[in-house]
Amino acid sequence: MSWRQFTWAALLVAALLLGACDTEPPVTSRTFLAFGTLVEVTIVGTEPKQAEQAIGQVQQEFEYMHRTWQPWDASALARMNMLLTTGAWFSAAPSVLPLLQQAAELERASGGRFNPAIGKLIKLWGFDESDQPTAQPPPKDEIASLVAAKPSLADIEIDGIRVRSTNPAVALDFGAFAKGYGVDRTIELLRRHGIENAIINAGGDLRAIGSHGDRAWRIGIRAPRGGGILAAVEISGDQSVFTSGDYERFFEFQGQRYHHILDPATGYPARGLTSVTVMTREGARADAAATALFVAGPDHWRQVAADMGVERVMVVLADGSVQMTARMAEHMHFEQDPPPQTTVVSTP
Ligand code: ADP
Ligand code: MG
Repeated sequence: MSWRQFTWAALLVAALLLGACDTEPPVTSRTFLAFGTLVEVTIVGTEPKQAEQAIGQVQQEFEYMHRTWQPWDASALARMNMLLTTGAWFSAAPSVLPLLQQAAELERASGGRFNPAIGKLIKLWGFDESDQPTAQPPPKDEIASLVAAKPSLADIEIDGIRVRSTNPAVALDFGAFAKGYGVDRTIELLRRHGIENAIINAGGDLRAIGSHGDRAWRIGIRAPRGGGILAAVEISGDQSVFTSGDYERFFEFQGQRYHHILDPATGYPARGLTSVTVMTREGARADAAATALFVAGPDHWRQVAADMGVERVMVVLADGSVQMTARMAEHMHFEQDPPPQTTVVSTP
């Protein structure tokens, strides 16, 4: 090849490469801290300046929700928790009302397994975000009296923007729900900016819309007992994937693991499963269901999934084996070799 031919060939290759870059859609991504976890927002196919602006608003929204929905620190929710113990009517914080109403429906559907009214019990164990977990289980009688008081969102009466609780034991803690509700709200915000392809990932819990260029979004599900990624799910369109596990916040006492997902019926950490992954459209429903199914345990999770209207579920049992619904199996690829012992089950 002459120098002249070589130069032309080189120019052609460069042009082809540039062409390839041109057809790749722009990707804009930012990570920030909210709800005690890293939130990563990725936008595909939107001009970077516009994408940056939208992500800035998402970040502000998360910071607002995080500040407002702290159960005990100086926040709108903390004020409500104080007033709920009095039995008197008061005006609810505007951002808390829709959160409360949606959570109440999901609590009912879950048969009380997802119950954001057990804030006092969560605080007693030290599993609210502001506290360090206690080093040992709290006194039995204190747990028993909080359980016997049966706090529920159904105890809250709502009249316009005014609310009151008929049960002084009610205290709101949206730790199992705020992330899901938050990704729904911020995905809506992105849509108002005309964004069609995005993923908002809050520490492994996420909602995605559209696709990553011509590929599906690929999401890793963490192995509950370490060892990296258990499985990957591929999603496109509008889907949320939420996982609740016994490894997020816990302490060990006399050889037992005490973790942050409490069974409202016993007052103790729910036993039997190590993680639950739920895939469904709305983040709020996915988040509430992951917690509720974790509480339901190996024998009841399928019924509770049906009651809460979620069809795609994977659970990991204490022995490391996996059960999942047929609809979930369509999306799941195990990343571990050998893969865990897996049973595909039908929901009622
Ligand atoms: P993660 O922290 O992994 O997102 P969850 O969504 O299950 O897990 O949320 C756990 C948090 O929810 C706890 O830290 C506590 O604040 C609260 N919580 C614990 N048990 C329940 C329950 N049964 N119903 C509602 N909220 C709960
Ligand atoms: Mg949850």
